[in-house]
This record gives sequence, C-alpha cells and structure tokens, in this order.
Amino acid sequence: MTARLRLQPEAIGMGMTSQRVRDRLIERLRSNGIVDERVLNAIRTVPRHLYVDEALATRAYEDTALPIGHGQTISQPWVVAKMTEAILDGASPKKVLEIGTGSGYQATILAALGMEVYTVERIGELLRIARKRFRSLGLNVRSKHDDGRIGWAEEGPFDAIVVTAGAPALVDALNDQLAPGGTLVAPVGGASSQSLLKLRKREDGSIEQTDLAPVVFVPLLSGMID
Ligand code: SAH
Repeated sequence: MTARLRLQPEAIGMGMTSQRVRDRLIERLRSNGIVDERVLNAIRTVPRHLYVDEALATRAYEDTALPIGHGQTISQPWVVAKMTEAILDGASPKKVLEIGTGSGYQATILAALGMEVYTVERIGELLRIARKRFRSLGLNVRSKHDDGRIGWAEEGPFDAIVVTAGAPALVDALNDQLAPGGTLVAPVGGASSQSLLKLRKREDGSIEQTDLAPVVFVPLLSGMID
C-alpha cells in the first residue's frame, strides 16, 4: 500500500514531465538528426507540458503533435527543432516572425534562444491562452490577432520567418518581409502532407530554396475568428 502511494506521483504526471523524460526526448531528437545544441537545450528547458491541456501533460514529452482545441495542434518537437535549426543555420537572427501562434510553444522556443519574437494567430481564443503562457513565464513575445498571410509589415523586415501552418504555395507578402540574408521556413504542399521548405534570401535579393523534409501541418486558412 505504502509503495503504491509512493508511486502515485509518477503515475499521475509529475514523473511524466521529469527531467529524465525530457532527456529521453532530446536523445530521440538527436537520433533523428537534430544537431544544434542550442536548439536541443531550448527544448530541454522549455516546459512543453504547460502548452497542452492538463489531461495531455503526460504525453507532452513524446515526439508527437498533440491537439490544442479548435482542430489545431501543437507541432511535433522534431518539427519545431528542425525549423528552429534551419533559421539558425549560419545566421544569428534577431527579429523573427512566426505565423500560427497556436499553443505558443514554437514562439517560446525562439524567445528562449534570445530572439525578438513577433507571432500572429487567426483564432482569438488560442491567442488569449498563448498570451497567458507568455506572461506567466515572463516572456516578451509580441503577438497579433490577424490573418498571418499578410505578415506584419509595420514591424518588418524580419531576419527569419517561421510559418507553422501548411499552404499550397509560398506566400509572397511573407517573402517580401524577409530581410536580405534572412531565412524563411514553411510547409508547402497539399492538405495531407507538405514539404518543409527553407528559403534563404541572398544579399542581392535572389532566393535559394532547400527541401528539408516531408511534414504534416494543419492548413494555413484565411480570415480570422474569435
Ligand atoms: N506554432 C504552433 C503550431 C500551431 S498549429 C505551436 O507551437 O503550437 C498552426 C496554427 O496556425 C493554428 O493555431 C492555426 O489557427 C494557425 N493559423 C492557420 N492559418 C493562419 C493564418 N492565416 N494566420 C495566422 N494563424 C493561422
């Protein structure tokens, strides 16, 4: 009986969000090709279980996307790592724009790496919850309730842009808000799967495009809702 009681915190969650469980996620990311120690460290440090509903907290350190309501998901840690690694590759972006705040997790990873983060979300209710998380963790993330397909021109240009919802094609307005030397990552393709594209805008304005991996994102939709 005593032993069972002692085991209980493990079973109901505390153990499931422990450092050991987080370290296991980091090892998994490493074995799946994530090499940037800064990114791995940010993922080890940020408490992902605070970005999902309490009922899902025990699954927060699995390498999987999880539902956050409104038919949306918090991205899979590997995808967050891959996108973050892509914008840090050979660059040190200061000002970053994210499209699709969702849970606020990706924005938090970017902020934890010292970037000045601007994030746009079309679903008001998700943004309100994400803002609470930013506040309670003392993060200075700037956010806007809007259709992110128009970007955030008043604050641009950005050293990096991270699009966290899939679209059939790249969005011109976002490419235009990317600074020379900057990097944009976005999932591009059909509804059921996309290619994670990395675009580097050279100093002369020309674009170099790399296909990083096949991915599955929720769709980039138009308009905004409460
Ligand atoms: N970066 C998020 C991932 C959320 S899923 C995280 O770390 O949790 C993608 C998000 O993009 C959803 O919240 C969805 O509502 C939002 N989204 C889809 N289309 C959008 C648009 N046009 N403008 C802004 N946000 C959009």
